[in-house]
Amino acid sequence: MKMMGFLKFLLGLSLMITIMVSTPVVEAWGKEGHFMVCKIAEQYLTENTSRVVKELLPESAGGELAEVCSWADKVRFRMRWTSPLHYVNTPGVCTFKYSRDCFNSQGVKDMCVVGAINNYTAQLQSYGDSSTAYDLTQSLMFLAHFVGDVHQPLHAGFKDDEGGNTIVVHWYRRKTNLHHVWDVNMIETAMSDYYNKDLNVMIDSILKKIDQKEWSDEVNKWETCRRKTSTCATNYATESTSIACEYAYKDVEQDSVLTDEYFDSRLPVLEKRIAQGGVRLAAILNGLFDSSFSDSVKTE
Ligand SMILES: [Zn+2]
Repeated sequence: MKMMGFLKFLLGLSLMITIMVSTPVVEAWGKEGHFMVCKIAEQYLTENTSRVVKELLPESAGGELAEVCSWADKVRFRMRWTSPLHYVNTPGVCTFKYSRDCFNSQGVKDMCVVGAINNYTAQLQSYGDSSTAYDLTQSLMFLAHFVGDVHQPLHAGFKDDEGGNTIVVHWYRRKTNLHHVWDVNMIETAMSDYYNKDLNVMIDSILKKIDQKEWSDEVNKWETCRRKTSTCATNYATESTSIACEYAYKDVEQDSVLTDEYFDSRLPVLEKRIAQGGVRLAAILNGLFDSSFSDSVKTE
């Protein structure tokens, strides 16, 4: 009996350790957020683009971009240098400025989410060049993830509070932090309140809003990027920073209790960011892999 008791203790302990180890410090849209961005993007890929994307995906993806959209989060501790590529911070101001804000903690320039999007897009331009030195499978997985991240408003938040990570709040009755509210909690609450706890129902609803008058007039603008040599990721971060001020940080302080009022007014903003992330990821990939698309008005 004593032995059984000890075994139980060991089992319990190992379970506890597993739970502790597998609960990562989330600093990005949760799995659901990234999955939605990539699932939406998949709907907007042209046939040619879709073929190239499938060719580049690792076998484990089963031909689905959405399956590998959280890969970058899984490797951020193994590949420590990639950690600052998930976000950018401003010095407490509501505007983003690339030259001022895009660097890592050692001051190395371009090491932020915007620089990363530009860099991996540039790497993917070498697709088809047999002498390319890049692992384009990785480039694609990084790009798909970071385009999602840059649309999460608090991934372009303030340095002092680490994009809301140090602002402790209560999401209804649960203690969490403001960054996590935007990464995970709002999506979870939306799924259980409106989408039958089914991520696919939420994705379908967002896709419908893109097509319907709700956003359809704006979609062309979302896609348009008039830069030839880099992406428009700077604009996406600029939008995120201003949304962070206007919605995410607004009326929130340490120990705030956030409930229906916050949820109802911010969820439409969050859903739109996911939609924009998906549409823009598709536009970048179409621009890269489908020459007929890049000749069209969308990229000029
Ligand atoms: Zn991330």
